[in-house]
Amino acid sequence: SGAVAGVENIRHVAALAKLVMEKTPHLLLVGEGARLFAVQHGFPLECLHTPESVATWQRRGPEKSTTHLTHDTVTVLTLDQSGSLAGICTTSGLSHKMPGRVGDSPILGAGLYVDNTAGAAGATGVGEEILRVSASTLMVEAMRQGKSPQEACTLAARRVLEVARRRSVPVAQVAFIALDPQGNVGAACTAGTDFYYAMGRAGQVEVKPAAVIE
Ligand code: ASP
Repeated sequence: SGAVAGVENIRHVAALAKLVMEKTPHLLLVGEGARLFAVQHGFPLECLHTPESVATWQRRGPEKSTTHLTHDTVTVLTLDQSGSLAGICTTSGLSHKMPGRVGDSPILGAGLYVDNTAGAAGATGVGEEILRVSASTLMVEAMRQGKSPQEACTLAARRVLEVARRRSVPVAQVAFIALDPQGNVGAACTAGTDFYYAMGRAGQVEVKPAAVIE
């Protein structure tokens, strides 16, 4: 496992996370240290704002800070021909977050968890709620105990629902995907937004909706 968090001006942070895994004894580098590590390995420093993102920022303003505006995480789980699982999770995080805020995506066991002996699982959505339940570890451990990937995703979505109800807060948008060592897949999300996932097998890609759990 390798991860980076709080890194500015680096476009390909997932490639940087892979280097953390391959070239350091550590699992997570953050902020300036991660950026320095990137520069030392030849990553260019780039301005990642677009005219659209600047215009949106100006329209909403920093005072409208919220964790529920937009999210854009991409999580990919793979199984190769030798039966080896892998995963990647990359994001710019929720929009309008506080400086220093870290979501679920770079946290092992929250946004992503992979164990060849049990399965791979990943998440997208409001990171605070995914972190709160260690969702990806939960899904992989459920598969270890014999649950299917679909049952594991449903379990994680239900856990997010239960915790929100216990805390008397609105249920956040979250979505989960899972893959087991046999190639079975699952996907589930909380209500409110349609989440779709793409499954590629032998050159064919299918796009399917995640099961909505209420
Ligand atoms: N999970 C991400 C975060 O909380 C947001 C997203 O799904 O885009 O930072």
